[in-house]
Amino acid sequence: MENKKPMSLTEAFANPKAGRDSSDCKLMRVRPELDEDDQRTLDKAVDAIRADLGNGKSKTYSVAWLHRVLKNLGHSISTSSIQRHINGSCGCGPTN
Ligand SMILES: [Zn+2]
Repeated sequence: MENKKPMSLTEAFANPKAGRDSSDCKLMRVRPELDEDDQRTLDKAVDAIRADLGNGKSKTYSVAWLHRVLKNLGHSISTSSIQRHINGSCGCGPTN
């Protein structure tokens, strides 16, 4: 284990993107394991799940759905990892 000294709050405040790394995102680690078509479809699926949020009706595309599909393909990822990516709170989240 790397024993890196955590940033001070002052440093973190000055560099809010520091320490964010797409390798922290489990979904982006699974992505290269998919074939090319499925990588593109994964991006579309993420957009579809995001678009489906806040809709009172039952979701067509949901985190649970994507989790089930990926699991069936033999990828180990948790629903919370997918949810973090959907929320943009993962390492590769929005850069603004
Ligand atoms: Zn992500």
